Amino acid sequence: MLLLKSKKSFFLFFVITFFVNYVTPFKFIAFSDTHIGRQVESGNNVAVEKLKLREPIIQEMKDDEEIKFALIVGDLVDHGWANPRFNCCGCCNLIDEWHDFEQQWVVPLISQIGASNVYLCAGNHEKILDYRKICRKSAYKKIEESTNGINYYFKTDGVFFLCCGIYPDFNTCLWLDDLLKWIGHRPVIIFFHYNIEGKYSDFWSDDEKNIFYNLIQKYNIKAIINGHVHKSSTYLWNKKIRVINVGGYNFTIFNYSDGKLTFERKS
Ligand SMILES: [Zn+2]
Repeated sequence: MLLLKSKKSFFLFFVITFFVNYVTPFKFIAFSDTHIGRQVESGNNVAVEKLKLREPIIQEMKDDEEIKFALIVGDLVDHGWANPRFNCCGCCNLIDEWHDFEQQWVVPLISQIGASNVYLCAGNHEKILDYRKICRKSAYKKIEESTNGINYYFKTDGVFFLCCGIYPDFNTCLWLDDLLKWIGHRPVIIFFHYNIEGKYSDFWSDDEKNIFYNLIQKYNIKAIINGHVHKSSTYLWNKKIRVINVGGYNFTIFNYSDGKLTFERKS
């Protein structure tokens, strides 16, 4: 009788544990560095080359209903030019890169997966402004004023996605610290623009990286997703945390299933 009771208890424990921990499998797409407004970079126009990915991305979304959302991980535009503040003078070049980015990337994606499923992340190029800044609002400011803002999180089927903007600076780490304490052991995927290792990874200091690493390493971090360098790569940071760079001339489809994150590159 006692054995029967303990078997029932075990079964109940198993069922509760299963449903508490069970996460519906899902997919998402990530890419970065669309650089709308860029003319030529080492002989090619990165903005035009990246735009060639748009139709394959939309086709993937049409073909695969498991793809729930898209992350665009920074350097969305090239000079940070958003809408003119004044229609004042002929000296302003009135190119509105932010408007062009929305028309060329956001609107087509939204028409496929819905407005709330396109997640933007700021990059350093959203802040670049030259003499034209008198006339303009930066693209960074546009993101800052958007519904999500610069640092934000969302949850999909039990997995938390944390956006740290250009990179996890001191203030972002304060935000992360509180958020991760609340999230506890639940699965987390972090995305921000700067890469951590390799070429161009010196846009943030080793001290900043160490503070960030020490903050997150005790949590259940499934991956970090970056852009910035225009080359796709993956590595284990400090032999522990999986980092996936999505800045190359391709896009990445992630698949989260049974607590594991896998991915494949497509172009
Ligand atoms: Zn960048």
